[in-house]
Amino acid sequence: MPVQYVKGVGPARAKVFEDLGVKTLADLLEYFPRDWVFMPDPVKIRDIHPGENTTIAAMIEQTDFRPFGRQPMFKTTVADDTGVCQIIWFHGGYLKNKLNPGQAIVISGKPTIYKHQLQFTNPKFVILDGQSAADPQSLAGPVYPASGRLAGRQIKKIIQPIIDDLADIVPDLYDDRFRKKTELITRPDAFKWIHSPPDAEKLAQAKRRLKYDELFLMQLGLALKRYKMQHFSPAPTMKRTDKIDSRIRKRFPFLLTADQDNVIEEIVADMSKSTPMNRLLQGDVGSGKTVVALYAALLAVANKTQAVIMAPTEILADQHFLSIERYLKDSNVKRTLITGGITGTKRTEITRKISTSQIDIIVGTVALIQKDIDFANPGIVIIDEQHKFGVHQRAKLIKGKTPHRLVMTATPIPRTLAMTAFGDLDVSIIKHCPPGRPKVVTRWVAPQNRLKAYDFIRHRLKAKKQAYFVYPRIDSDLYDYHETGSSLKAATQEHKLLTEQFKEFKVELLHGQMKSDRKQNIMQRFRKGQIDVLVSTIVIEVGLDVPNATIMVIEGADRFGLAQLHQLRGRIGRGQSNSYCLLFAETENEITKNRLDIMTRTNDGFKIAEHDLKIRGPGELFSARQHGLPDLKIANIVEDFDLLTLARKNAFELVSADPMLAKPKHRNIRNALIAKFGDKLGLVDVA
Ligand code: ADP
Ligand code: MG
Repeated sequence: MPVQYVKGVGPARAKVFEDLGVKTLADLLEYFPRDWVFMPDPVKIRDIHPGENTTIAAMIEQTDFRPFGRQPMFKTTVADDTGVCQIIWFHGGYLKNKLNPGQAIVISGKPTIYKHQLQFTNPKFVILDGQSAADPQSLAGPVYPASGRLAGRQIKKIIQPIIDDLADIVPDLYDDRFRKKTELITRPDAFKWIHSPPDAEKLAQAKRRLKYDELFLMQLGLALKRYKMQHFSPAPTMKRTDKIDSRIRKRFPFLLTADQDNVIEEIVADMSKSTPMNRLLQGDVGSGKTVVALYAALLAVANKTQAVIMAPTEILADQHFLSIERYLKDSNVKRTLITGGITGTKRTEITRKISTSQIDIIVGTVALIQKDIDFANPGIVIIDEQHKFGVHQRAKLIKGKTPHRLVMTATPIPRTLAMTAFGDLDVSIIKHCPPGRPKVVTRWVAPQNRLKAYDFIRHRLKAKKQAYFVYPRIDSDLYDYHETGSSLKAATQEHKLLTEQFKEFKVELLHGQMKSDRKQNIMQRFRKGQIDVLVSTIVIEVGLDVPNATIMVIEGADRFGLAQLHQLRGRIGRGQSNSYCLLFAETENEITKNRLDIMTRTNDGFKIAEHDLKIRGPGELFSARQHGLPDLKIANIVEDFDLLTLARKNAFELVSADPMLAKPKHRNIRNALIAKFGDKLGLVDVA
């Protein structure tokens, strides 16, 4: 039923409710309070413990309004038969005609001791007698998130009278046995108690139940998506013989690390099945994912299928192709690169060869590959997300075919996010980089040490090393200057200064707004060592791989997120010698200081990501819509991790037992899912 017809709503308020995401009566049920106030039972003044949440019932003995002084203040003295205490309301002028000696009053708040006297400051109160008499219980109860045009108080007045009736018609999702086992209260009780909890304990139970349901339905959606993916149509099964294995390994001029070997075993096991692999491979930049991906690609080729490698940008596609070329020198494997630069007949020729099985490995951008290419027999699709999440969601299956899929990401994804944003994938992790990696030393440089830092850099440049200078902006912004009184350092302006500062070296500017061929040219020269200092914005975050660049200066480091800083830092430490990351930031903000501090203390991407997640929340880390993060009303994937784990386990078990949720006892669950996801999961047909 539309919320408009609820008592006290009407057309105008219905609009306001709509802005709050509430369209129906059912939505109203899920408009949860943001806080709850419990009033403890009244105590005698003698028994008050300062600092504790306290309620007292007492008589007003004296009132006194002091309009002057730093803050106007309304002061009263109250007493019961055991003692006296002071009550102060700052800015309490409005109480002048309301509170009078002789009145009975209930006070609720946290008393303190001030000048040897018990004192409540700005407590909640209810007058018990006279004209303004009220029920003390009105102090307690839920606090609803308000909108500018609808006060929390009004929302409370609309919701509270109907909650019990509504909750009673909510169907439960699970049977009693399951509920008992998982210690969940019933769903109707949960809805009642979330809106009007009799006590804190019941509120906690209500929250737990509703959080569980929310997480469970989300995980069920993921489990179904995965099930469909796996059973949609079979993938080609891949055999790995010892011969194939040794032929592939011969391509690598090094021994694979234990982590690489383990991940390869997981992938080989997946690919040997006719259900398509759907795996996420995580590992920091430089941990050796490309090698693993190439192993999987060559396995597919050895099994007479094609391997498709997609990257989010042309630079990355180029780079993958280059490194594959290096490993496959003199091999019979036919490979090709598809980029925007290849057009006309050349392009037609390539696509024709792909569709007639004359090419084994195809590398390109996600956009291009999906456009108009007809693969003859794709065996595996490898998607390098690098740092751009959600590419795998856009990378739809190749027309009517279901190859195995491997998604790679260089951003360490905290477990909670792996279970939600990537929850339909299996996860493999490369934790340790190949041996012999140089150290990356990170320092936060104080402003007064800037010149010292420059001296240090000059020293390294003289030793033929190269440096990156990274800025948060391309151009300094006048607006910014007026707003903050200090101009944010920007690449274009600083490039000029650095050219002066490092006169004896070649300093070049690179940023995203440059023409593509100019960018290519600069990167090319930097790669070849013809440029010593590259002044840039975060465009270098993705794609540049120059082992000789061992210095990175990040200006305005406080402007970057931790994950971003970590990614940037991943550009150095790729060669033989130690690398140095120098952070410049002028900040007094404790949180920012703390963040920069973490950067100097660890190179472990997972630790950094967990920290980022805790302080900034998942929405910041990944822009939610783009990355398919669920929008949750009550659960929090960071705080409710245990519940998330439990919900996930149960959801996946349910799908393997009853994949279409067709059993009568699962009807309510199925209905709830359809209500939540619509027909996205393909359940509706079955229903
Ligand atoms: P990622 O794709 O994870 O960024 P790469 O696969 O590109 O990492 O590997 C980074 C560098 O490490 C490459 O230069 C590669 O040749 C090298 N490398 C990869 N695996 C090993 C290994 N097992 N032993 C030594 N070097 C390795
Ligand atoms: Mg890589």
